[in-house]
Amino acid sequence: MKALVFLFLLVLSGCKTIDESFTTNLKITSTEIEWIVVENADVFCSEKKNIRVTWFEVITACAEWRLDFSKCTIYTNKELTHSTLGHEIRHCFEGSFH
Ligand SMILES: [Zn+2]
Repeated sequence: MKALVFLFLLVLSGCKTIDESFTTNLKITSTEIEWIVVENADVFCSEKKNIRVTWFEVITACAEWRLDFSKCTIYTNKELTHSTLGHEIRHCFEGSFH
């Protein structure tokens, strides 16, 4: 039973806009991704899972994934960049990297 509970625990990462190169560290190569557009990602992501941010940081999107990486949900504003979306997709495959 503990293992079952463990599998369905979720991890959430809130992100600022980031555009930088990186070395891949894939935890999985295939997963189910859901993309949800929210009114204000900064408020939504901060309140949804109590992401710790400093007062000057603005969250532009966040990703929530299961510990077994079987499913991932990305939350974004209606307007965003390709870089932001790609960053969140990376979370779906690599988990927490910042
Ligand atoms: Zn991030």
